[in-house]
Amino acid sequence: MTMTTDEKYMKEAIRQARKAYALGEVPIGCVIVYEDRIIGRGYNRRNTDKSTLAHAEITAIKKASRAIGDWRLEGCTLYVTLEPCQMCSGAIVQARIPRVVMGCRNPKAGCGGSVLNILQEPAFNHQVEITEDVLGTQCSNLLTEFFKELRIRNKKEREERREQENCGSCDEKQMEKTGSR
Ligand SMILES: [Zn+2]
Repeated sequence: MTMTTDEKYMKEAIRQARKAYALGEVPIGCVIVYEDRIIGRGYNRRNTDKSTLAHAEITAIKKASRAIGDWRLEGCTLYVTLEPCQMCSGAIVQARIPRVVMGCRNPKAGCGGSVLNILQEPAFNHQVEITEDVLGTQCSNLLTEFFKELRIRNKKEREERREQENCGSCDEKQMEKTGSR
């Protein structure tokens, strides 16, 4: 099966998302393409950088702007594995990016049509063309896998903590006993 250009670049965005995954971050990745060349890459580093601004799209936009030497990213296409949030959608509109290709939707926080459609708000001076569900299953599977692992990890940690607490109270009782003797 031949890969379309959109699939080719979405695969690169997924590659970025895997970098986030490796850091224990929610796996979201982004690339920005200009004249059939990637000029900006980014992946979610919110916890690592302890910054709400460290979303994949913001990082990719910063790098693309540096590469082009302009805050305007006209003629660029942004590929992102998950529908952008309100902050990133706002930045995409501000950067005048004409086209966004999304992997899967984010029903609880997406602003490319799910919660809001900031990308295509007619009252703004710029609207974005959206192509969605490009390698969408791969993108959402990566997220599902991540959250499944996270739940298992959290459960294990809780159990370990409980065990430690139980042992602690054991010791205390033991000490009380010996003290009363
Ligand atoms: Zn965002």
